[in-house]
Amino acid sequence: MTTDTHTHNQLATDGIISVLPGRFTPLPGRLYSVGIHPWHTDNATDAHLALLSQCATHPQVVAIGETGLDSLRGAPLDRQTEIFERHLQLAQSLRKPLIIHCVRTSQQVLASCRRLGVAVPVAIHGMRGNERVAQPLLGAGFYLSFGPQFNPATVLATPHDRLLIETDDSGQCIEAVAARIAPLLGITAATLLTQAAANLQRFLTATH
Ligand SMILES: [Zn+2]
Repeated sequence: MTTDTHTHNQLATDGIISVLPGRFTPLPGRLYSVGIHPWHTDNATDAHLALLSQCATHPQVVAIGETGLDSLRGAPLDRQTEIFERHLQLAQSLRKPLIIHCVRTSQQVLASCRRLGVAVPVAIHGMRGNERVAQPLLGAGFYLSFGPQFNPATVLATPHDRLLIETDDSGQCIEAVAARIAPLLGITAATLLTQAAANLQRFLTATH
C-alpha cells in the first residue's frame, strides 16, 4: 500500500521517494518524484533543469517535486519562481502531479499555478500552516499533506478526500505519523492509512 506522499528515505517501499535529478538512480519497484528543492535553487543551472526534464519522463517518476518556494532559504524569490515555474510547465506537459514545498509563500505559489493554468493535481507537502493559510490552497483544489509536525485545526479543516500524510525527512515510519493524526479525526491509524492511500492513488492517477 502506497501511503507516504513524500519521503527522503531512499529505500522506502510504501511511499514516493523525493530525489534531486542528479541523484536519480531508480531501484526496482520504487516510486519517485524528481525536482530541484527550493533550498538547492542557489546553484541550479540549465544543465540541472535539462536533467530534470529527462528524469521526469521515467515511468517510475510518478510526480514532479519537491519543488516550490521558500522565503527563508535558497535563491532570491524571483530566481526560485523562475525554477518553480519550469517545474509547473514540466508537470503540465507530462501530465504528472506536483509535490510542492511552500514556506511563507502560499500566495506566490497560488499565483504561479494560476498564471500557468496548472490543471494537474497539486499537493502541498509538510503542511504546517494555520487555517487562514490553508483555506485558499484548499479553495484552489490542492491536496494537503501532513507530516510529524502539523497544525491540528488545519488537519480538521481539510476535507477527508484531500488529506495526505508523509514522513518527509523525519526518519519516522508512516504508521507513527498516522498514529499522531488519526485521534484528532476520531478514526484509527489503520483507517487513516487506508484513506490516505486511496487519496494518494487518486492524486497520482487523476491526470491519466
Ligand atoms: Zn522534503
